[in-house]
Amino acid sequence: MTKFLTIQEAMAKGKGSVSVRGWVYRERGSAKVKFVVLRDGTDILQCVIKPDVVGADAFEIADKLQVEASIELHGTIKKDERAPTGFELQVEKFAVIGPSDKFPITKDQSPEFLLDKRHLALRSRKLQAVLKVKAKVMQAWREFYDKQGFLEYTPPIFQPSQCEGGSTLFEVKYYKTKTYLTQSWQLYGEAGTFSYEKLYCLSPCFRAETSKTSRHLSEFWMAEMEQAWLELPGMLDSIEGVLKHMVKRVLEDCQDALQVLGRDVKKIEPSLKKPFVRMKYKDCLKLLEKDGITVKWGKDLRTVEEDKIMEHFDVPVIVTHYPKEAMAFYKPPIEEGGKEVCLCVDVLAPEGYGEIVGGSQRSLDIERMTKELKAMGEDPKAYDWYFDLRRYGSVPHSGYGLGVERVVAWLCGLENIKDAIPFPRTMLRWTP
Ligand code: ATP
Ligand code: MG
Repeated sequence: MTKFLTIQEAMAKGKGSVSVRGWVYRERGSAKVKFVVLRDGTDILQCVIKPDVVGADAFEIADKLQVEASIELHGTIKKDERAPTGFELQVEKFAVIGPSDKFPITKDQSPEFLLDKRHLALRSRKLQAVLKVKAKVMQAWREFYDKQGFLEYTPPIFQPSQCEGGSTLFEVKYYKTKTYLTQSWQLYGEAGTFSYEKLYCLSPCFRAETSKTSRHLSEFWMAEMEQAWLELPGMLDSIEGVLKHMVKRVLEDCQDALQVLGRDVKKIEPSLKKPFVRMKYKDCLKLLEKDGITVKWGKDLRTVEEDKIMEHFDVPVIVTHYPKEAMAFYKPPIEEGGKEVCLCVDVLAPEGYGEIVGGSQRSLDIERMTKELKAMGEDPKAYDWYFDLRRYGSVPHSGYGLGVERVVAWLCGLENIKDAIPFPRTMLRWTP
């Protein structure tokens, strides 16, 4: 049986006889020679087919090859500076495995058309490169926490109540009643920490986001961790540690993908080499004031304000101590300068990529949480199981969620978060 090499392996071999297979990425030719750029899961390779080598009949078939036909090729590989990836295959034999009709995706098509044809657009080198970076980001996350003895956890996706505000809940029919798709595994993660202490998960999250931004998806993947005995300062170190580890791994292992994406790695490197910036909400207000932007104390920072702050920095900024009035019920307040601020954190990415992480120490105060839930129009009874966690051997604990697609959009330098997920779901897009 023929042993096929990937294009990457064939180029590493660099000379001699090889068999490769994949899809026609580009084709051009004349009566004397046909150039096929072959694409597989690893790279692209220029292949040259000549009638005097393969025979007239085979050449005629080669001549009719269309973009995205799948083929197997056998021949001699050699270095060639003029070829797109520096190597060329002189084809001796080839076979068409799956012919292709005229491929609907050509140059200069609108983003909407490309989203309609997403099942085919996924074959683009750009999306292929992004998916490689994304896999690396998730692998780095697991690696970082596995090494520290964390346990990977599998939270429920159907959840009976909200965690991040009722307005973005997706309601689903559930037998004769209704339930919701998870917005975050946090509350269930907290339950697990009183058993195993250190947990993480990588899970899809669903939020009915009605604003059309380049940062919000209705379905996205969140990497979350939750840890017993952990307080805010320790968690900030954990966040900085894992983000640096992700950047390191992507820079080490995804150079090819970053090159395909035309990403200027110099813009990412500071996040590996320099410490992140840490500042409190109140310092953000002071910085914004200097830029002529006044934010009233108590208001959450909006995208424009976050972007303005980030104009000053080339590494992620870890913002803590937001005012209680803008924060979720489970974020514990402390008093600072006569004001209530939370032991919470948001991390902002450089280059205007916005919030990539949100987290907090978790409140242990049942009475206060009950009051806030009521004020939000929630029924505290639905959270009684969650309050049980405080009734039976409660301990300080903290956790956070990292938006996988947000981190990928930043590291890849994407214009829109939709390209950080194979099949994006937004308010206006849920097919194919
Ligand atoms: P934002 O203010 O940007 O909507 P958030 O405060 O609602 O974010 P959290 O509830 O803290 O976000 O969720 C944790 C992380 O999940 C965020 O820091 C972000 O990286 C990611 N995230 C949240 N909502 C979305 C979304 N709709 N699409 C993609 N990622 C998201
Ligand atoms: Mg949100």
